[in-house]
Amino acid sequence: MAKVVVLGAGVSGHTAVMVLKKNLGKKHDVVMVTPNSKYQWIPSNIWVGIGQMTSEQVTFPLAPVYKKKGIIYKQALAKNIYPDGLNGTNPFLEIEYTHEAHRGKMERVEYDYLINATGPKLNFAATPGLGPQANSLSVCTTDHALHTWSKLQESLDKMARGEKQRFVIGTGHPMATCQGAAFEYALNVAFEINKRKLMDKAEIIWLTNEYELGDFGMGGAFIKKGGYVTSTKIFTESILAEYGIKWIKRAGVTKVEPGKIHYENLDGEHKNVEFDFSMLIPAFAGVGLKAYDREGDDITDNLFAPNGLMKVDADYTPKDFNNWSVNDWPSTYQNPAYENIFAAGIAFAPPHAISKPMKSPNGTAIFPTPPRTGMPSGVMGKVVALNVIKSIKAGKPVIKHHASMGRMGAACIISSGYGIRDGMAATMTVFPIVPDYEKYPEWGRDIGYTVGEPGLAGHWMKLFMHYMFLYKAKALPGWSLIPE
Ligand SMILES: Cc1cc2nc3c(=O)[nH]c(=O)nc-3n(C[C@H](O)[C@H](O)[C@H](O)COP(=O)(O)OP(=O)(O)OC[C@H]3O[C@@H](n4cnc5c(N)ncnc54)[C@H](O)[C@@H]3O)c2cc1C
Repeated sequence: MAKVVVLGAGVSGHTAVMVLKKNLGKKHDVVMVTPNSKYQWIPSNIWVGIGQMTSEQVTFPLAPVYKKKGIIYKQALAKNIYPDGLNGTNPFLEIEYTHEAHRGKMERVEYDYLINATGPKLNFAATPGLGPQANSLSVCTTDHALHTWSKLQESLDKMARGEKQRFVIGTGHPMATCQGAAFEYALNVAFEINKRKLMDKAEIIWLTNEYELGDFGMGGAFIKKGGYVTSTKIFTESILAEYGIKWIKRAGVTKVEPGKIHYENLDGEHKNVEFDFSMLIPAFAGVGLKAYDREGDDITDNLFAPNGLMKVDADYTPKDFNNWSVNDWPSTYQNPAYENIFAAGIAFAPPHAISKPMKSPNGTAIFPTPPRTGMPSGVMGKVVALNVIKSIKAGKPVIKHHASMGRMGAACIISSGYGIRDGMAATMTVFPIVPDYEKYPEWGRDIGYTVGEPGLAGHWMKLFMHYMFLYKAKALPGWSLIPE
C-alpha cells in the first residue's frame, strides 16, 4: 500500500486528491493536510466583496466530501519536510493541527509521494501598512472580502449623503501579481456605484505595477477582437475609460498609511495618492515550509527557491530577458532533488517572470510576477496526480503526463455586475500562457485562440462557472467529467 500526502485544499490540491482517490481506490491511502475546514471558490470572492454573494455561497465544509470519498483529512498546517527521513526513518512531514479539537498538536505523517499545493502566502508584511490588519483592504479570502464589503457599504452610504469618495484599487507591492482579480474588483465597484447613480461622487483609480495596462503579468497579449488584432493595452484602457476609471501605471507601492498610499514609479519618482477606500493585492510568497536532512540539518534551499516557492523541473539558470525561452517552464512539477515530491499551482517556483523586468533609476524592481490562475492550477494538480498514480502502479516514479504553461491556454473572464440580465464581462483567452516566439514568431501566441470580447455572454459564463466548479469540488455525481 502506498501513501500520497497532498498539502493544501485549494484549486490545485483539491483537484489532486480527488483524482488520486478516484484512481487509487481503497488499496492506497490519500491524505489531505490543509489548515482550512472549508473549501472556498476564490474567484467568487469578488462578488462577496460587493455584497452580491454570501460566504455560504462561495464555501462548503471539506470534511463530509473527504469522508464520502475515503480521503484522510487532517485539518492542519504542514510545517517541516524530512524527505530522507530522520536517523533512519521513512520520509515524513511534520504538521501542526489547526482543528479546534487539537489545535497546536504536532504530528508526523509519513509519505511515499508528497504533493505541495499550498498556494501563496499573502505577503502583506512585504509592504508596510498594507492589508486588512493595517490600512488597506483585500478580497483574497472570503473573510477579507466580507470585511471589504462592509467598508464599501460605508463609502456608498457617504456618497449617498453627498460626500465624495476616492477609491484606489490595484496592486500593493512593486512585484505583485494577480492583476486580473484586482481589475475585476475595480470594475465591480464601478458597476455598483453606477447602479446607485453615484458616479459623480466617486473617483476611481486603478493603481498598477504594470508597464502598460493589460500586461496582467503575462507580458500583455495581442488578441483577436471582432476580426481585428488589438493589444490588451488598448482593450483594457478602453474598458476602464468606459467605466470612468482613471489609472496610475508603472507604480510600485512602498507603504500604506491611513488614507494615503506611497509609491515609486519607473521614473524613480516617489509619489502618493490619498484614498477613502483602497483594495490592494499583496505580494505572493511561499508559505514557509522548511526541509531537513536525515541528520536534522536545514536543507530548505535544496527544495525551495529564496521566495519560499518549491523548485520543480524548470530551468532556473539566471538568463537575460532576451534569452528566456518557453522551454524554461516546467511541465511535470517534480522536484529536481526528490522524485517523489511535486509542487502544483501557485506553490511551484516559476523560472522567471513573463513580463519584461523593469527597474526604476533607484534600482527598485517594478513589474508583475507571473500569474498562475485557476485553470492552469487545476490542470497542474491533475497532471501531477496522474503521474503519481502511474508511479504507484508501476512501483517506481514514472512521468507520462505533462502540462507546461507554455503549452497550455487560459481563459480569463473579468466580469462586473451580478445576475442574469445585470452584468458585463470582458472575456479573454490566451494560448499559450507563456508566449512562444519560436512557434508563433509574429504574436508570441496562437492568434486563433487568443481572443477578447466584451459582452453579457461572458458574464453568464462566469456565473455558470461558479456553480459548475463548486459542483465539481463537492464531488457530486459526474464531477470528474467537468474539466479543470
Ligand atoms: C480575488 C481573487 C479572484 C480570482 N479570480 C480568478 C478567476 O476569475 N479566474 C482564475 O482562473 N483565477 C482566479 N484567481 C486565482 C485563483 O484563485 C488561483 O489561481 C488559485 O486559487 C490557485 O490555486 P492553488 O491551489 O495554487 O492555491 P490556493 O487555491 O490558494 O490553495 C492553497 C491551499 O493551501 C492551503 N495551505 C496554505 N498553507 C498551507 C500549509 N502550510 N500546509 C497545508 N496547506 C496549506 C491554503 O489554506 C489553501 O487551501 C483569483 C484569485 C483571487 C485572490
